[in-house]
Amino acid sequence: MQSKATGFMHYGREAPAARPALERINDWDELYIPLTETKLREQGARCMDCGIPFCHTGQILNRMTTGCPINNLIPEWNDLVYRGLWREAYERLSKTNNFPEFTGRACPAPCEGSCVLGINESPVTIKSIENAIIEKAFAEGWVTPNFPDSRTGKKVAIIGSGPAGLACADQLNRVGHSVTVYERADRIGGLLIYGIPNMKLDKQVVQRRLDVLAAAGITFVTNCTVGMDITAQALREQYDAVVLATGATKPRDLPIPGRELNGIHFAMEFLQANTKSLLDSGLTDGKYISAQDKHVIVIGGGDTGTDCVGTSLRHGATSITQFEIMPQPPLARAADNPWPEWPRVYLLDYGQKEVKEKFGRDPRRYCTMTKHFTGDANGHVTSLTTVDVEWVPANGRGPQLREVPGSEREFSAELVLLAMGFLGPEQPLIEQLALATDARSNIKAAPGEYATSVEGVFAAGDARRGQSLVVWAIHEGRGAARSADAWLMGETDLP
Ligand SMILES: Cc1cc2nc3c(=O)[nH]c(=O)nc-3n(C[C@H](O)[C@H](O)[C@H](O)COP(=O)(O)OP(=O)(O)OC[C@H]3O[C@@H](n4cnc5c(N)ncnc54)[C@H](O)[C@@H]3O)c2cc1C
Ligand code: SF4
Repeated sequence: MQSKATGFMHYGREAPAARPALERINDWDELYIPLTETKLREQGARCMDCGIPFCHTGQILNRMTTGCPINNLIPEWNDLVYRGLWREAYERLSKTNNFPEFTGRACPAPCEGSCVLGINESPVTIKSIENAIIEKAFAEGWVTPNFPDSRTGKKVAIIGSGPAGLACADQLNRVGHSVTVYERADRIGGLLIYGIPNMKLDKQVVQRRLDVLAAAGITFVTNCTVGMDITAQALREQYDAVVLATGATKPRDLPIPGRELNGIHFAMEFLQANTKSLLDSGLTDGKYISAQDKHVIVIGGGDTGTDCVGTSLRHGATSITQFEIMPQPPLARAADNPWPEWPRVYLLDYGQKEVKEKFGRDPRRYCTMTKHFTGDANGHVTSLTTVDVEWVPANGRGPQLREVPGSEREFSAELVLLAMGFLGPEQPLIEQLALATDARSNIKAAPGEYATSVEGVFAAGDARRGQSLVVWAIHEGRGAARSADAWLMGETDLP
């Protein structure tokens, strides 16, 4: 193998290959085939050990995440992998990331967008190396429960079992607090289980981690909606501290004529039912919304929309079209989007690639706005009408949306999935606890502090910052654990 110092000159970027699109749409298995150990070491050799590595900065630049939000020690573990020191690489990685197997699969990798090599070359395949390290660690039996040295006698309740709640639980348990995680769903994992589809994150991978957390002493309670099955007040009385990690699950609606028709669903109704049925019965119980033999329209061009596209294709949809109200991004970074910012460029994600292979075109239509739905005599949606829009500069304000006259179009639509983002956390529990909220209805708690307006109550993840990323949820869960520990004990050693 070539020397590390010049590795980036000898080896090109190689990411794990995806299974052929027309093969993988017949199953729900993960998309990618891992790289061999030799390839991974070569990819590690591409890391230049640059003077100022931007990959692990975790900053917000131009309203986008730049660098790794949990400040993973990327150049260090890249080098350790290059040298074949996998155990040391795992130890480095676990200093900053509780769940590399989730981020190694599902993270959009803002680290790679800010990799210095990316200025004039393809960036290092950081995410794949991260995933390989944790998979090696599980295979070798290095991932073991983090038992505390002793118990503090303090009890903490965590509401919500997504990545924020789980990271917080792991950290608080390590320092000896007795942690109970309450979850209203029938399975633990939040959007790791019922949001991100199986082909992006196999649910056995989530269960493998939950088994380690449970073995370390964390208690999980499912099918329990805090605020209904147990009051928030009762939790406050039973526990020394309470952490809210309830996510931002309120979907944005599309209140246009015909919205009440059958066959129009929020994306999460579709995705959650699909994964539940898949896990319960391999989709044989029929308890999901099927896209089979239907003309499917997905409204919303983001990641949730992509997951609806991939899921509909696996059901056997007749056609799939995805609407995006914004213009198509450029093929390369625009002048106002320089490195190390997150590159806003046109890409085909897995769902669009699959549709392109099957139907010969990217399913996305840009600058498209839906005006109304039309239904049949049974009240079921049959079509929808759109109009093209353009974004025109306006004095002193950002570009304004304008409809293009005469651009109305009708599309067959037997299943419509609304994937237009989320409006923040659900409010009943927040109201029950009388927590202050910010202008976007998220729980108000200063970044880095996580303490809410109520003494002894903390907030983390999407419930505090709005719908975001798994990696930010882990960052926040760790931060809330640090704050709660300091509040409980008067000091903290948690990172
Ligand atoms: C479809 C979809 C796909 C996504 N894909 C990706 C991806 O590929 N990569 C990525 O980085 N991010 C992705 N995200 C975003 C990411 O999943 C979230 O940012 C992350 O899961 C937030 O973590 P969290 O712990 O704050 O909340 P969540 O994961 O939302 O978990 C909150 C949990 O709290 C529970 N809860 C709420 N209220 C109560 C209550 N009163 N009592 C008990 N339990 C309660 C909920 O049931 C839920 O399980 C995706 C999001 C969606 C919707
Ligand atoms: S967690 Fe995400 S941003 Fe951080 S190193 Fe992994 S892939 Fe990159």
